Amino acid sequence: MDRQKESKDMSAVDFKKYGYELIDWAAGYLENIEKYNVLPEVKPGEIKSGLPEHPNYAGEDFRQIINDFEKIIIPGITHWNHPGFMAYFNSTSSVPGILAELLMAALNVNGMLWKTSPSASELEEVTTKWLREMLGLPEYLWGIIYDTASVSSLHAMACAREKLGLNIRDKGLAGRNLPELRLYCSEHAHSSIEKGAITLGIGREGVKKIGCDSEFRMLPELLMAEINKDKKNGILPFCVVATIDTTSTTSVDPVRAIGEICKEENLWLHVDSAHAGTAAIAPEMRKIFDGIEYADSIVVNPHKWMFVPVDCSVLYVKEPEILKRAFSLDPEYLKTSVDSDVINYNDYGVQLGRRFRSLKLWFVIKYFGAEGLAGIIRGNIETAKKFKQLVQQDSEFELMAPVPFSTICFRYKPSGYKGDLNELNSNLMDRINKTGRIFLSHTKLNGNFVIRLVVSGIRTEEKHVLNAWEIIKSSIK
Ligand code: PLP
Repeated sequence: MDRQKESKDMSAVDFKKYGYELIDWAAGYLENIEKYNVLPEVKPGEIKSGLPEHPNYAGEDFRQIINDFEKIIIPGITHWNHPGFMAYFNSTSSVPGILAELLMAALNVNGMLWKTSPSASELEEVTTKWLREMLGLPEYLWGIIYDTASVSSLHAMACAREKLGLNIRDKGLAGRNLPELRLYCSEHAHSSIEKGAITLGIGREGVKKIGCDSEFRMLPELLMAEINKDKKNGILPFCVVATIDTTSTTSVDPVRAIGEICKEENLWLHVDSAHAGTAAIAPEMRKIFDGIEYADSIVVNPHKWMFVPVDCSVLYVKEPEILKRAFSLDPEYLKTSVDSDVINYNDYGVQLGRRFRSLKLWFVIKYFGAEGLAGIIRGNIETAKKFKQLVQQDSEFELMAPVPFSTICFRYKPSGYKGDLNELNSNLMDRINKTGRIFLSHTKLNGNFVIRLVVSGIRTEEKHVLNAWEIIKSSIK
């Protein structure tokens, strides 16, 4: 093949030919996505077994690559963009975001320094400010884009550790006569908080899980009691994570009361609002941020409920200089003549190389506008209400948590049933998911197996939750 002999990239002619074909493919895919089962019917290892053991040495025809993509890869895809995907915190991508991803790959910008792409740095400044305004967050917050909320929270926790002034950045934790550090979050906080503590040397035991009220919200009085107990035992409290939309039920911790404790005790307050934070684009939802002025940092994920393709998570911090102090280094090879005039985003985190994520955030904001995005989110919340009513109206089903956003936790509880309700519901969920038409996930609340249905997809409409309800009912044995 000529192209291999010449070791050249694909020609512009072929790029256009296959590019147009793949855009057609993607448009057709989204248009007809409901023809697919949400969950693939494959067994572990099945996809691998369809792939060659070794890489090809000679280049293949692009047609062959497309064929293999359809034949081998697509059968093992879980269709996140499917309106029947109602598991976890569903994240769906919008077309403007998809097109931005194409351009991001074409430009292949690495925004590690302002100089390595001024547009990437400056667009990140502007889009994070725009988003802050769209969410009604305080103007002093400074934003940075990372890949995921897990990484955003990790950086927030690193700031909290840095602010202690224990010089852990330079001297580390091991072999030093330091007090044990303690971070607090509710028993319903996301596991990424514990992962952050593992990574930062705080350790899993350095995370204290605070009990919740009957609506799964952190109890500030228990938080206070734990802080006092730890202080008496020579442990150093340094950070509290409050969650505005816990993963199991989307409960909202009382940020204001927690914030007052943090202020009093001089503790870093990080707010994890990874999924539902973007709901505040709808002005009537801004109440979720009550008390946010106490927060030192807050994470929201445009890749969850704002239709920006994975990955895009925004961390806002009150004092960006602490983030910089925690991470910045200045090797000679990264110095530029404009360093004092610009933001070099690599100074504010673990990564040097950075994707041009602000481009997709920009495309999505510009295309839909704040009103357009608020409208879709509102539609999701209304649709979720419909499903909640169906659950409430059926005496054989039970709502297991309040529904502040668009996640419904419920279980099947037939009257007079004497068996194990957890097993009954776990089996029911398996049967529902086996239909392939919808995908639901679960959690445990007070020891009870609970099925979760999340409405946060750009393509999910009322007819889809009505269909989901029918599938759920017909999956009862
Ligand atoms: N925080 C909360 C409340 C979440 O629900 C999740 C994931 O669902 C995360 C953090 C982690 O998100 P990511 O996958 O962006 O790391």
